[in-house]
Amino acid sequence: MPELNLRPEKMRILITGAAGFLGSHLCDRLLQDGHQVVGMDNFITGSPENLAHLANNPNFSFIRHDVSNFIFVPGAQDAVLHFASPASPNANSPFGYVNLPIQTMKAGALGTHNTLGVARAQQARFLLASTSEIYGDPQEHPQRETYWGHVNPISTRSVYDEAKRFAEALTMAYHRFHGIDTRIVRIFNTYGPRMRLDDGRAVPNFLKQALNGEPLTVYGDGQQTRSFCYVSDLIDGITRLLYSDIHDPVNIGNPSEISVLELAQAINRLTGNPGGIIFKADQRGEGDPQRRRPDITRAQELLGWNPQVGLEDGLRATIAHFMPATGNAATV
Ligand code: NAD
Ligand code: UDP
Repeated sequence: MPELNLRPEKMRILITGAAGFLGSHLCDRLLQDGHQVVGMDNFITGSPENLAHLANNPNFSFIRHDVSNFIFVPGAQDAVLHFASPASPNANSPFGYVNLPIQTMKAGALGTHNTLGVARAQQARFLLASTSEIYGDPQEHPQRETYWGHVNPISTRSVYDEAKRFAEALTMAYHRFHGIDTRIVRIFNTYGPRMRLDDGRAVPNFLKQALNGEPLTVYGDGQQTRSFCYVSDLIDGITRLLYSDIHDPVNIGNPSEISVLELAQAINRLTGNPGGIIFKADQRGEGDPQRRRPDITRAQELLGWNPQVGLEDGLRATIAHFMPATGNAATV
């Protein structure tokens, strides 16, 4: 493994999408590592509650702003992490990107251009939150970073996939042409505390239904697979990538693959939900990938990273987070 300094000099770091699920955990981790963090968000899918615990932290400040517009950040920045984007594909949720198509394309395209502009002006390092969705409905399994993907450019899902593919291309162009010190993380399905229970992604949707004692809605026949990573593992992988000098994309995700039906069964078992499972054959979105599992050899070899938290432990921690918040299950 190449030299990796896990205790780098203190930096001033801009994180877009800071009020979201991953962005807020990233703020916590980088503050713990001793950095100063400026969070930016427009709350389109995130929530101020995710950052409420940082209100009195002298090393944290927040700017409410839409990254699709020109970004001004007072003071010097040493790093820019671009996480702002809707992230759920579910057409049944108002927070799903299928229902926020233009905002999603603008966050991925204009937002990446603006955040790269900040990195260039400040000579800061840059990290892009990309996604396994750039592989589309993959014809190679598991997915290695060398795979170019299988994406329909005009499907309803394409607003997210193509914006992220453009974002990767623009990031590499800034790296090659302007010499910006960039990184690209391809994030695979990640779950944990602070997800929106109503954004429609499989884990929060199933949890919301289970905590209400309702049947879990499995789309299609449930034989499609995903590989679910617990948030602490993901944040550790992203932090290692930030502290590295790797410019090529790196997959970060848990390679343990299960079917959506097995996920639903596990959640019913762990929550004691009597509601069972119902199949919604017609609810499976256009282009919903049939199989997804990361090849994490690159992260293992270059970052010394391996996920530590198994699905059952991660789900237990996530359920424990949402249980007290729900109180009366009917209010979820
Ligand atoms: P999230 O919806 O919880 O967080 C996204 C945040 O970005 C929200 O707080 C939202 O308000 C903010 N945002 C969106 N558009 C914005 C804009 N124009 N200006 C300012 N803020 C804006 O989702 P998440 O799961 O935390 O995802 C964060 C990032 O990670 C996204 O870029 C997503 O594509 C990527 N990602 C996440 C996963 C996952 O499994 N969680 C997988 C792949 C990629
Ligand atoms: N899914 C499901 N029921 C739900 C929500 C999602 O069966 O209530 C399925 C969805 O069709 C997909 C998988 O779970 O096959 C993962 O969906 P998610 O929205 O979490 O994200 P994706 O991995 O598709 O981006």
